[in-house]
Amino acid sequence: MSHIHFAFVALAALIPECNQAAPAEHADEHAAEHAAEHADDAGAAASAEHGKPAEGANKPAHGGGDVPARKFSVPFAWEASQDDALRTTKSFMQGFFTDNAAYVKAHNETFFKPFVQTQKPRATVITCADSRVHTAAFDARPENDVFLVRNIGNQVVNAEGSVEYGVHHLKTRVLVIMGHTGCGAIKARMGDISKESDAIRHELESLSVPKPKDKGDERQAWQEAVVANVNEQVAFSLLKFSSEVETGDLTVVGAVYDLKNDMKQGHGHIVLVNVNGNTDPVKLTAFEKVVMNKPDLLGRGDAADAKDGAPSLGDDKHDDKRDDKHDDRREGAGATGGSAAGHH
Ligand SMILES: [Zn+2]
Repeated sequence: MSHIHFAFVALAALIPECNQAAPAEHADEHAAEHAAEHADDAGAAASAEHGKPAEGANKPAHGGGDVPARKFSVPFAWEASQDDALRTTKSFMQGFFTDNAAYVKAHNETFFKPFVQTQKPRATVITCADSRVHTAAFDARPENDVFLVRNIGNQVVNAEGSVEYGVHHLKTRVLVIMGHTGCGAIKARMGDISKESDAIRHELESLSVPKPKDKGDERQAWQEAVVANVNEQVAFSLLKFSSEVETGDLTVVGAVYDLKNDMKQGHGHIVLVNVNGNTDPVKLTAFEKVVMNKPDLLGRGDAADAKDGAPSLGDDKHDDKRDDKHDDRREGAGATGGSAAGHH
């Protein structure tokens, strides 16, 4: 965010200066190449200003408030090879502006009006930061609905303040912890993480996953570890928010987004694995049927029967309250003008 913000502010001011004042060896035809060399150490596709890092550039870029501000020139030359870093930067940012323009066109004032002053999401959702996992898989209109928290391995402990903010301040009624098949964080944790940087190791160490037994089915062990982690995050959340869960003000849901179709229910299918600490498939199925108003599919008669087999769903009062809130929100939202514009 800060890089993007900086780019907007500095773009107009820096481009003429760079074009005129850059030393000869950094002339336009070499600028992109030069910038690419520095892209990694900058943490952004930007070249160090006039080839030299700004003052304080040797200090670590994280870990406290005393880090001196670092400044780089805005990239402006794009002529480079196919795999150049700046080529990717350009194409991504092109989509960034194009897709945003389409989004603005498709979402007028009426869309934003109900939540422009304050947000009222129904759910706090923790997912892995993995680029293959997005709200499009479970909420067609996430604005003002999903308080989204992301990190590697979808961990509560590494974003506890954010999760608490969603549950306590925004009073979201659902806390969803969603892992995913093919999770790199889980796989890394199953192996040796001693060579990772301090920052990455710190975030991975809080994951406790079952170590693979001997030389079994690696894929199976990986999938089981993903589920085990979700269950552990749910257990942690239930301890943390026990009073809210007890009164029915909060329901904690654990799920796995199966992008690899490891669970054989279709690529992208979200498998429910835990509701308020319940992992029994019968109870999970009952929960899903009741949520979907399909208790008849349980083959057990009416909704009351279905509820007996379901995990702690809260009483009818709570269910009604949630439905009302849902309806209000949807009605207040007005025409969305199509929410798909922002998706690729
Ligand atoms: Zn992941």
